[in-house]
Amino acid sequence: MAQSETSLNAGAGHGRSAVVAVAKRLLDVALPPRCLSCGTTVTGDGGLCAECWETVPFLSAPYCSCCGYPFDVAIGEDVLCGPCLRKRPLFDRARAAFAYDEESRRMVIDYKHRDRTDMAPALARWMMQAGARLIAEADVITPVPLHWSRLVARRFNQSAELARRIARESGTDYAPDLLRRRRRTPSQTGLAARDRARNVKGAFRLGRAGVAAITGKRILLVDDVLTTGATVSACAGVLKWAGASAVDVLTAARVVRAEDGRTDSG
Ligand SMILES: [Zn+2]
Ligand SMILES: [Zn+2]
Repeated sequence: MAQSETSLNAGAGHGRSAVVAVAKRLLDVALPPRCLSCGTTVTGDGGLCAECWETVPFLSAPYCSCCGYPFDVAIGEDVLCGPCLRKRPLFDRARAAFAYDEESRRMVIDYKHRDRTDMAPALARWMMQAGARLIAEADVITPVPLHWSRLVARRFNQSAELARRIARESGTDYAPDLLRRRRRTPSQTGLAARDRARNVKGAFRLGRAGVAAITGKRILLVDDVLTTGATVSACAGVLKWAGASAVDVLTAARVVRAEDGRTDSG
């Protein structure tokens, strides 16, 4: 008798959590999807309303074959921008879904600092379009790591969330621990390019996965915003040192004039 009571109670407990789960799912369905940029109700799951589709500055070719800097006119395949011609970055190629400007800035800030994890599916989808070739050629996808103290403050690594989704959707290996942030770097906000590079110098080291997970691999590094490229270059330096055959970079946004960078990313 006692035994059947116990199993009855256990059953009731399960029943309750199942009800809560169903209620949550119903709530998800009941809440109309909202535009990621302006917040108006939208139909479908495109992530943006019709007006914002027009204003978000999505990036597409032609661009610098190395860093992805957009060009106004198509000059030909494999053309480099001025800075890449003068000095090739430590990463091989960088691509971004959209330019970081007044319109798109709000989306990035909402995602990064307001815990808008609901934005991740749309951002990841746009990144997969912009970086289709990089993803197809990658052996493994890894995020730019956050320092643990920032992870605690923010509760989630916004880059890891994007990297994990892109890896899952594309069927590519996901390795979250190739790199580790060895110290908490001061915010990059307001720093000039040279100071940004100095700020992140030595900030990354090998993560728990070790050299074996990196040697000979084409690695796709995922971050939210590319500003001067200082952060991803510091990461690429460590990965190349550990024997990566190539390091590509995929970000949601990209500052088109580095001097205008106003994010705390790199
Ligand atoms: Zn909108
Ligand atoms: Zn370039």
